Amino acid sequence: MITKRLKSSRRREAIDITSLVADAVVGVKEGIAVVYVPHTTAGVTINESYDPDVAADILDKLEELVPFAGGYRHLEGNADAHIQATIVGSSVTVIVKDGKLVLGRWQGIFFMEFDGPRNREIYIEVVPAKESL
Ligand code: ZN
Repeated sequence: MITKRLKSSRRREAIDITSLVADAVVGVKEGIAVVYVPHTTAGVTINESYDPDVAADILDKLEELVPFAGGYRHLEGNADAHIQATIVGSSVTVIVKDGKLVLGRWQGIFFMEFDGPRNREIYIEVVPAKESL
């Protein structure tokens, strides 16, 4: 397992981590990479990385759907972040071929921060395909 560290700079932020994940699969002929976020107020997703407005729209819409003040039971004051993290999910799986991530032309991998700024970690497990062992 590979651990990557990053630091978010705002409370809510979409950070493109595609190159960080790509670094972890160099030399892997064929397989999958599991990208896992071990946090309860952050997540990971794959979406368009070409136009930054897409990620901004996703963050805005999640905030609209799950506002900061929502009459929540959780007393820590970040219930919105927990709920948004659950909607986004805590892992993605990407196919790896010839040392590269197999992503669509416009796709990127995003670390989704909902309660920053914080020091965060990402776990990456690269699983080689059986025939490439
Ligand atoms: Zn909390």
